This record gives sequence, C-alpha cells and structure tokens, in this order.
Amino acid sequence: MIGVSRYRLQPRPAQEQALLEHCGHARYVWNLAVEQHAHWKPGRKSAPGFAEQCRQLTEARAACAWLRAGSTIVQQQALKDFAQAMANYFGGTHRRPTWRTRGRGEGFRIVAVKAGDVRRLSRHVGEVKIPKVGWVRFRWSRTVPEGVKSFRVTRDRVGRWHVAFAAIPEPIPAPGTGDIVGVDRGVAVSAALSTGEMLNAPTLRDTEQRRLARLLRKLARAKRGSNRRDQVKAAIAKLKGRETDRRKNWVEKTSTDLARRFDVIAVEDLKIRNMTRSASGTLEAPGRNVRQKAGLNRGILANGWGRLVARLEHKAPGRVQKINPACTSQRCSACGIVDRAARESQARYRCRSCGYAGNADVNAARNIAHAAGHAVAARGGLPLGEPVNREPQPVSSQRETGWNPTPSGGGGCQSSCPIPASYVRSRTGEP
Ligand SMILES: [Zn+2]
Repeated sequence: MIGVSRYRLQPRPAQEQALLEHCGHARYVWNLAVEQHAHWKPGRKSAPGFAEQCRQLTEARAACAWLRAGSTIVQQQALKDFAQAMANYFGGTHRRPTWRTRGRGEGFRIVAVKAGDVRRLSRHVGEVKIPKVGWVRFRWSRTVPEGVKSFRVTRDRVGRWHVAFAAIPEPIPAPGTGDIVGVDRGVAVSAALSTGEMLNAPTLRDTEQRRLARLLRKLARAKRGSNRRDQVKAAIAKLKGRETDRRKNWVEKTSTDLARRFDVIAVEDLKIRNMTRSASGTLEAPGRNVRQKAGLNRGILANGWGRLVARLEHKAPGRVQKINPACTSQRCSACGIVDRAARESQARYRCRSCGYAGNADVNAARNIAHAAGHAVAARGGLPLGEPVNREPQPVSSQRETGWNPTPSGGGGCQSSCPIPASYVRSRTGEP
C-alpha cells in the first residue's frame, strides 16, 4: 500500500567509501543551492530555478574534476530535492531548507532505475546496482515493490545505511464521466472537495498525543548523552513514525479514490504560488497560506499535501490540473464575484452579493474545479483525448448567474487571477 519501503543496506568497506563520496557530492550541490537562495528576498529577481541550476551544475562539473568524477544523477537529484524543499517551504508546510552538515541525515537519490537493477540473491539477501559503486547488498526484509523507478540511499548518525525503493503505482483508468473535482487544502480539515466532502488525514489518537507530550517533557529533563535520553528519543521516534505511516496510508487511499471517481482532479499550483507571493503576502493581498501557517492543522498538512499531489499524478497521469491559486479563496463560487470581506471567519464564506454561504475551503475547492473546467474546455476536451459532451458538474450552476467584473470587496482581483478572464471568454462565446 505504502509507496516507499526501506531496507538495511550492507555495503562492503570499499563500497562504503564510494557511497560517502556520493553523499558528499549531494551535500555540496545542496549547500550551493542553499547559498544561492539565501540572498534572495521577495521583490528581487528570482533566484535560479531547477533548470538554471542544472545548467550551472554542468558548468561546475566541467570546471571541477572532483565533481565531474561523481554521478550526474546524484548531483542533479540533489538539486531536484532542493527545488522540492523550496516548494514545500513556500507552500507553508515545511521550514526553509538549510545547510547540510557532514554526518547528519546524509543521503542521495538515484532515478531511472531499470528492471534488472534490483535483484534477489537468496531468501534474505538482495542487491541493488548503484551508479559508480556497483552491486551493493541489502537485507531482503520484505518484498521489494514491482516497478521500482527510483531509490534513496541514506546514512543515519550512527553510520547505518538504508535503501528506500519508490515504486510508481499503476495508473488508474478514468471513469469517463467528464466529472471534475477541485481539491483545496483546508484549515479545519486536511482537504476540502468541491463536492462538499471534507477529508481528514489521520493523526495521533488522544492517548498517543498525551503520551507524546509526556515523552517530550521527559526528554527535556533527561541528561545529554544518557541511556535514558536515547530510550526516550527512540520512543518518540516510534510514535511519530506511527503517525507518518497513517498519513501515508491516507494519501494512498485518498489518491486512489479521487483517481477512480473523477476524470479531472484540480489542485492548486504550488509553483505559481511560489512565484507570485511570499508566505505572508502584503496587507492588501494577504498570502493564502497565511491561514494555513497559522492554522492548527499545520502539522497535519505537513508532508501530506505534496505527497497527495505526487500520488495523484502517478495514479491519474495527465488528469491532474494545476490551477493558479490567486483569488480562489476570495471568489464566490456561486456568482463569481471577488469579495475580500466575504470570509466571515477562517471556516465560513458568505457572499454579500448573492447570499451564497458555505465552508470557505469548499468554496475555494469549487473555484479550483471551475477554473479547471475552463482550462479543459479551452484545450478542447479532457486530457483523455475524448470529446466532452457534459458540462463539468461543479461549474454547471454558475453558467446562468452572471459574472460581475466589479468586485464589491474593493480593489479588484489580481491581474494574475485566471478566473475572471476565463469566465469572460466563455461568456463571449469563445471556447
Ligand atoms: Zn456570490
């Protein structure tokens, strides 16, 4: 069920040296990226993105023999990891990526793994082919998932090596109904659907949370370097691991369910969010993720959202539509007006123009579905290549009601907002 499974890697001493070299390269490249972004401030020309950094990496490899001797995959993937870490940071779910030090949470990732690169030698022994290192053995403690496309090698503080295989799940066939669903990250819930459904990622039970709090207090009292401290730490790690496993399971179940039920799944485009706004935004246009940062739900959102989108893209390839999040929280999903004052609270949206009232996250999810409906129509059909005969469900009721281009909330919508433009297009008869 879970997409990633971890195994104990057992490199020979010479191989360990080569693995450490890979770790060193990954760390070096990551730290360079951290440096580049450390100087960036909102309003300045953007710091180099993944593509530009890859180009710079090619130059750096040409100039530096030490780097050139290493694996391109390892180095490029370190950049990719960094890009993902920045996206998570801007998305409000993670802290800013920081400098990596030798010996702490070291690792690297290998992609483009071929079918024969992982094999079983005996009942408890397998081996995996690592570029520039060769075949490295690992403990075959459970079945390795089929269709491994990438893996990550890590070394913990104690010096133990692990390999984690990530398998891409089989795509799930679209239902073919033409239905579009919008998914919004919620405040009170983990995700709100345009259908009105609220989805909650599981967290620790009350008793477990109390136990965790007790353990954390114990940890604060325990002497540094004591056995007791190690025991408490292990117990904390176990509890947190349980929570992570539950969330991963939830992501798998939820992504499968959405891929089965809807032809198009529309989510916010976190990359656009990154480019257009800082976490807090400005006074006139507060960033949308402020509420998430402040929300009680932050811990639940952490990790889960990015993983959910990634899994959706695996299970419903070509059917995930990323929507510019501008205005999705302020626009009324019933009449289309953009009203900044319509948010009665974090959870309630009440339109002062048409009287529509509902959960604020569901309202945002409906707007996301609406924008996706127009994007799909503008492209001339669903990404499946079939003609669309049906108007997407979530937007059908908005057709009759007019779009008022003068928002009552004052100021008007940001120019980057895709919703009014697409709506106007559809009214003038263009696709
Ligand atoms: Zn309204």
